[in-house]
Amino acid sequence: MKVKARRPRRHIRRMVNRVCQAIFSCSRWNKSIGLAILHTTSALVLVGVILCLFVYDMWYVLPEIFDPYGLVYGFHLLLALFIVCNILGNMWAAFQCDNSVASLAKSRQQPVEGEAHLWHYCSTCQLQVPPRSWHCRMCNCCILKRDHHCTLVGNCVGHKNHRHFICFVFYLFLGSGLALIYNGIYTWKCKAFFVADPILMMGTYANNINVSGSDDITWMYVVATVFKLNMFSFVVALVMFSLQMFLAYRNSTCYKIMDRSYDLGWRGNLEVVFGKRLFWIFLWPTIESPLPHDGAQWPLELSGNNIVV
Ligand SMILES: [Zn+2]
Ligand SMILES: [Zn+2]
Repeated sequence: MKVKARRPRRHIRRMVNRVCQAIFSCSRWNKSIGLAILHTTSALVLVGVILCLFVYDMWYVLPEIFDPYGLVYGFHLLLALFIVCNILGNMWAAFQCDNSVASLAKSRQQPVEGEAHLWHYCSTCQLQVPPRSWHCRMCNCCILKRDHHCTLVGNCVGHKNHRHFICFVFYLFLGSGLALIYNGIYTWKCKAFFVADPILMMGTYANNINVSGSDDITWMYVVATVFKLNMFSFVVALVMFSLQMFLAYRNSTCYKIMDRSYDLGWRGNLEVVFGKRLFWIFLWPTIESPLPHDGAQWPLELSGNNIVV
């Protein structure tokens, strides 16, 4: 009788378990699909904006400033191409880099003798992980020297791709700064500063001032809007680049922004991020620049060769 009485409960329990498993696997699937959409959309929007700005500046703006058949125009075109290639190249390098703890050699996934107390346990990965490694919910793994998860490059920024991320934001800053100069001159030449400022614009209509035909005014709107968007992108890129250089200079990360435990002096700190070749890596994304270590051990400030958390 007891056995018969337990059967329905077992069935119910099994059914509940199956439903829970189905919901869990469905939510994980939805999460991965959602992340793929988020990363792809962010990257495509950024690439689209960069390419649109490139075409607009090279085909519409620069020929109004320089002779399109002259050397100066050619130089600016090559410079813009170089910047765009560096943005896309560093973006790609940051995307395809594996920063996870699992990317370490098998022998390095365990603390060496005397260092076990420096490692900490990740309850999600159920593993002991090295100092400065933190779990990322989006990547679903622990990342070596995790800085932050970037949806633009579709990856976590950490020990191995930090240099690519800094170069990526540097060229975003440089490109948007250069475009801002071109667009500023062009906006001035088109007298689109009138359109850029809504108060001036209201004054123009209020006083019935004819700027010069409806087509011109539409184009002036376009010029003024691009100029304002360009200003916004320049400020964002400047803030991002300044923050990243500040962190690299102090050998800290966004994850623990005020932590100066690993401060090795400016040169040692920059080597940790840029590698042995330091600023040469800014020239091209594929320049080799070996990092001083693999991200499992971290020397603590200027206190000798001790390896500490
Ligand atoms: Zn983890
Ligand atoms: Zn991540």
